[in-house]
Amino acid sequence: MSSDPAPILRFAPSPNGHLHVGHAFSALFNARLARRLGGRLLLRIEDIDPQRTRPEFVDAIFDDLRWLGLSWEEPVRRQSDHFSDYERALERFGEAGLVYPCFCTRAQIAAAVAARHDWPRDPDGAPLYPGTCKRLSEQERARRLDSGLHAALRLDMSAALALAQDRIGWCEYGEGEQPRDVTAEPALWGDVVLARKDVPTSYHLSVVVDDALQGVSDVARGMDLFSATSLHRLLQNLLDLPAPRYRHHRLLADPQGRKLAKSEGSPALRDLRAQGVSAARLRADLGFAEPD
Ligand code: GLU
Repeated sequence: MSSDPAPILRFAPSPNGHLHVGHAFSALFNARLARRLGGRLLLRIEDIDPQRTRPEFVDAIFDDLRWLGLSWEEPVRRQSDHFSDYERALERFGEAGLVYPCFCTRAQIAAAVAARHDWPRDPDGAPLYPGTCKRLSEQERARRLDSGLHAALRLDMSAALALAQDRIGWCEYGEGEQPRDVTAEPALWGDVVLARKDVPTSYHLSVVVDDALQGVSDVARGMDLFSATSLHRLLQNLLDLPAPRYRHHRLLADPQGRKLAKSEGSPALRDLRAQGVSAARLRADLGFAEPD
């Protein structure tokens, strides 16, 4: 008998809108994998953003997933319960001299790079941070903080890379069984924000801390987060956290070939339900007809 603990997977939606068909694919993908691996499936509500999180979206997530026929381990995990864990991680980065406060607004960053048409962008399309606040004197930093200005905390990427082990990578399974080694390219993200001005953490930091805290062994999520994994592996490396196996699955496209996303008006599961589409029909359409 194997002494390896049961694999742990998670479906981790952000409650800032209703789940759509792409989410259904991801949740079903995780559930099937958990069954096949004899693992546990966690549900994690990624609710760090008070501006965008709404309680009715959390309830709707439960309703939609139950309608799909999914179940998950209780208790439901919530990122909003873990701000002190994120704070501790930020303190570690601070003690290692890997973060600095940044007072810039998005508009200031855009203006700083406007004259440079070839200015590099991160994998999400945002201009790499030009380092304005990295060059501030300690005195000026203290003055701004004392005057009550809000600061984000940015990772000093060159310092982080210098401290990290030589080569960082991960084991990528895609949708299959055969892993391949991927070399991480965290430098693509530049001096990324680890704690926002309005929220004392960020998606990247929270997801890395939570996956470790919750013992997640297999991260199965959409290909849109493939590039983020480079950064996540760097953060794990710096925080001495274990590396999960990664399984980035395809993104569903609408008939015009565009990625399905809340913002592009792709059908919400609740709308399909209201139109009389059955969960069995949707599951079958997505390739998850029972039994596995
Ligand atoms: N909360 C993220 C989303 O809804 C997913 C994060 C993840 O799976 O790492 O897109």
